[in-house]
Amino acid sequence: MSFNSLGLSPSLLRAIEDQNYNQPYPIQQEAIPAILHRQDVLGIAKTGSGKTASYVLPILMNCMGNSVTKNRHINVLVLVPTRELAVQVRGVFQEFGSELPKRISSLAVYGGVSINPQMIALQGVNILVATPGRLLELVDSNAVHLSGIDTLVLDEADKMLNLGFKDEMNQIFKLLPNKRQNLLFSATLSDDVKNIHQLLLNNPLIIKI
Ligand code: AMP
Repeated sequence: MSFNSLGLSPSLLRAIEDQNYNQPYPIQQEAIPAILHRQDVLGIAKTGSGKTASYVLPILMNCMGNSVTKNRHINVLVLVPTRELAVQVRGVFQEFGSELPKRISSLAVYGGVSINPQMIALQGVNILVATPGRLLELVDSNAVHLSGIDTLVLDEADKMLNLGFKDEMNQIFKLLPNKRQNLLFSATLSDDVKNIHQLLLNNPLIIKI
């Protein structure tokens, strides 16, 4: 199978070529067409499976149809457990978004550093990659609004729960609009992950790698 058959645009295919990805990994073969069709996805997959590109590529494509974001209203929220993963995932959005005809703006926000530069940088962002605690601080400061989100990604959901982010995650879920696409990735299907899956996902495609 080649990336050409998955429904991605020529500009994304060029970016994939630039990254020297020759063939889609199994999770990418399954997840990319489903996410392009706005289906919910539960991916049970570890780091190294190619899970990041499996959601980054179709999300960038789906964002091409979005109108300009209203002041501090983001379109896509990616929740991650750590600063390192936030920076890494944002980097993948940048790499694959570099050749798009329309600029899709992304940002990573995380705790342990000053909040002010993040508040300023949130102007005009489409895709926000965030750790839960810092996101809530930014929401409380009115630096970002979650009511316009059309896609929610939970990446490394099991790790987020293990690190004690359950309450923060539930607070965030309450701030999201009901109608949205949900994508959940986790290395394991623990009881807590199952609970979130049953609470959030609507008839998902389940992929186990
Ligand atoms: P991830 O599981 O998303 O952390 O990705 C693991 C590594 O695999 C990263 O270094 C990616 O750049 C790389 N990767 C992801 N998909 C592909 C692919 N289709 N072909 C080659 N490398 C890939």
